[in-house]
Amino acid sequence: MILLNPGPVTLSQRVRNALLHEDLCHRESEFAELSLDLRARIERVYPEAAADFTAVLLTGSGTAAVEAMLNSIVPPTARCLVVANGVYGERMATMLARHRRPHALIDSPWLSPIPLQRIDEALVADPGIAFVACVQHETTTGRLNDIDSLGAICRRHGVNLLLDAVSSFAAEELRFAEWNLVAVAAAANKCLHGIPGTAFVLARRDLLTGCADHADSLYLDLYPLFREQQAGWSPFTQSVQGFFALQEALREFADAGGQPARRHRYLAISSRLRRELPTLGAELLLAEADYASMLTSFRLPFGNRYATVHDGLKRAGFTIYAGQGPLAADVFRIAGMGAITDADVDRLLAACCELLAGPEAAP
Ligand SMILES: *Cc1c(COP(=O)(O)O)cnc(C)c1O
Repeated sequence: MILLNPGPVTLSQRVRNALLHEDLCHRESEFAELSLDLRARIERVYPEAAADFTAVLLTGSGTAAVEAMLNSIVPPTARCLVVANGVYGERMATMLARHRRPHALIDSPWLSPIPLQRIDEALVADPGIAFVACVQHETTTGRLNDIDSLGAICRRHGVNLLLDAVSSFAAEELRFAEWNLVAVAAAANKCLHGIPGTAFVLARRDLLTGCADHADSLYLDLYPLFREQQAGWSPFTQSVQGFFALQEALREFADAGGQPARRHRYLAISSRLRRELPTLGAELLLAEADYASMLTSFRLPFGNRYATVHDGLKRAGFTIYAGQGPLAADVFRIAGMGAITDADVDRLLAACCELLAGPEAAP
């Protein structure tokens, strides 16, 4: 089965083989070495981050990393402005609400870009806002949010930027200094091509050092993880096999040319889909220039039901992804993350050609 959903992804044979590593206890020195190696590799994904940022590894899905970042990096009394234009941005506001943290939300319709002017005005009106949180690639629609402009606004106001980069880390560019970026949350099983269950926060070391009394969660408190991981240890059992898989995925990533090469590879896949599927009636949900590299949302051609298209493609060996919420009925998404070959894309397009040709008969 080729997974075309935005994580978990199709594994390469290299990464799959890494799962067969000999059993290892997380209290043994080999585990500490593994953790230190993983952290160093993650810190090198973006060379700019290597000096001032450090990676904290967590066992959990991407949501755990995002929640740990918000709960640990932001002091309990600091105000955080959440900018949302999709499921994942809205989820960050929900997290802050659950933790009863002072926050404000600027949300816009899911098909809209982030409203830069409203954000700027909000920061002028409320100088108490110390952090802005946003999603880089809003997986709901595939939009690459304009973090260049948002980051410039944060920098101008001296506000710290936090990014949910779960579905973009290792593929899209990150500019740490230029954006006043202090932390990003990400996971092993999206653009890094590891297995689900390992996530991490890459955060500025000085903020981590000072976050000892911030979190009101025990498990999602980055501070003890940060402190113990300096020597490779972790306060709780980590996903040992997941760590081995991520290590191999990071080696494979570096061998293939790192972030610019990964972005390039995703764009090669996505631009074929963006060119071919509209000729079969599946129009792009957004303007092509608005998409990130790795995922595209399409409108179901008139007369097609999602379940029929999904099931047909599944029989052909591909798992696609539905739209979320109000987009569920007439949108589908295809991601190009994971070990996907050009031959896979050929077969996918052939299957789409058969399935999407002509409106289906009414039941
Ligand atoms: C996938 C994703 C997450 C986290 O999802 P999990 O299911 O917890 O791994 C968070 N944010 C974005 C933008 C995502 O795409």
